[in-house]
Amino acid sequence: MDFTESIAAYKEAKPLMPGGVSSPVRAFPAVDLNPIYMDHGKGSKIYDLDGNEYIDYVLSWGPLILGHADEKVVEFVKETAEKGTSFGAPHVLETKLAELVVERVPSVEMVRMVNSGTEATMSAIRLARGYTGRDKILKFEGSYHGSSDSLLIKAGSGVATLGLPDSPGVPAQLAKDTLTVPYNDAERVSDVFKQYGHDIACVIVEPVAGNMGVVPPIPGFLEELRRITKAYGSLLIFDEVMTGFRVAYNCAQGYYGVTPDLTTLGKVIGGGLPVGAYGGRRDIMKQMAPEGPIYQAGTLSGNPLAMAAGYMTLSQLTPEDYPEFRKKADRLAEGYQAAAKKYGIPLTVNQAGAMMGFFFTDQKVINYKRSKSSDLNHFKKYFAAMIEQGISLPPSQFEGVFLSTKHSMEDIEKTIQAAENAFKQIAE
Ligand code: PLP
Repeated sequence: MDFTESIAAYKEAKPLMPGGVSSPVRAFPAVDLNPIYMDHGKGSKIYDLDGNEYIDYVLSWGPLILGHADEKVVEFVKETAEKGTSFGAPHVLETKLAELVVERVPSVEMVRMVNSGTEATMSAIRLARGYTGRDKILKFEGSYHGSSDSLLIKAGSGVATLGLPDSPGVPAQLAKDTLTVPYNDAERVSDVFKQYGHDIACVIVEPVAGNMGVVPPIPGFLEELRRITKAYGSLLIFDEVMTGFRVAYNCAQGYYGVTPDLTTLGKVIGGGLPVGAYGGRRDIMKQMAPEGPIYQAGTLSGNPLAMAAGYMTLSQLTPEDYPEFRKKADRLAEGYQAAAKKYGIPLTVNQAGAMMGFFFTDQKVINYKRSKSSDLNHFKKYFAAMIEQGISLPPSQFEGVFLSTKHSMEDIEKTIQAAENAFKQIAE
C-alpha cells in the first residue's frame, strides 16, 4: 500500500499540534507506524488520502453504529444546518433525542445533553458528589471515563496504550479521593466499602469494560455493585458512553438487567457529531441547575446539528439489529479462533453485542491485569498486516473493535481471511 499522502500530511501537522494529532491514540504510538489520514467514509468502508480502501472497525471509536455517512443522518444534518448551526436557546431536537433516550435507557427519567463523554462523566461525578455530600469515588483499574482530573487515575484506553503512569497535572489532593479496584472483583469493592463506604459518593463502572480491550462483567458483578452502593447510600453510575446502544437496544443495563442511579452516554447518541449526555433518577437529576443548586452548563450543549445526527441514528436502530450484530460477531470470533489455532497463536476473544476484544493470550481476560498479558508484539505485527490488507482496526490492544449495521458477511469473511494471513506472518 502507498501511504505517501498520509506521510506528507503527518509531517505538516507535527510541528503544529502535539504529536500531530487532536487525541493521542490517533498518532499510532503503540504500533510504530505513520498515522493514516482519512479522507472519506461510506458504510463499512473508509478511504485514506492516498485512496486506499479499508473495512473499518474503528468507526470513529464507536459512534458510527450505522456506518459512515449514513444517508438519512447526513440528509437530516444538512437540512438542520440550513436553518442555523447553533442558537444558544432551547431547540425541539433536544427534546426529541431526550425522548428516545428516556424511552430506551431503563435508568434514565431525565437527561442533560453535553458535548462529549468526558463532560458527561465529569458532570455525573459532580452530581453524585453534590447529591450525597461525599467526596470519594470508586472506579476500576483500566477503565477509562474520559480525561477529567478525578477520573484519570489508573485509566485505560490511550493512557494504557502509552503506558503512562497517572497523568501529571492531576492534583494529588483530588487523586486521593479516587479509589480504584480491579474490574470484576466485587469482593474488593466490598472491602473498600467496609473501610470508606460512608465517604463514597459513587461507583462509576463501564458495564462492559471497553478501554482495556473489551471485557464483559462476570455473572453477579454488576448486581453486587448495585447491592453494595445501595447499602451505603452511594450512587451507582454506569458509564455507557461506549456500551450505550452498542451492547443492546436498551444499552448494557437493559441487557444485564441492573439499573444504576445515573447513566452517562456519548458516542452512538451523537451519530458521529460531538454529543454526550448524563441522566438518571428524576430526584437526582432535579438537583442540577436551574432546578437545583449543582451547576453545569455549555455554550454548544444540545447543538441542533449534533441532536439531528443523534436523533436520526437512534431512530433507525431497531431491536432486530442486535441479533444481527451478534451473528457477525460470532462468525468473526469463530473465524479468528480457527485461524489462530491453525498457526499456534494464543488468542482470546471477548464479545458484547456490537463490540469485541481480541487478545493475544491464552488466559481468560476478566480484568486489566489479564488484558496486559496479551502479547503486544503480536498485536503490532497483526495490526500492520491487517492495514496492509485493507482492514482498519484501533491501533491499540486496549481498545474495542466495533461493528456497524453496514458491515456485511462478505466484509466479515474478508476480515477473517486477512487475520489468517496475519497470523501466518506472526508465526513465521
Ligand atoms: N467513557 C467511556 C467508557 C469511554 O469509552 C470514553 C471515550 O472513549 C469516554 C467516557 C470519554 O468520551 P469522549 O472521548 O467523548 O470525551
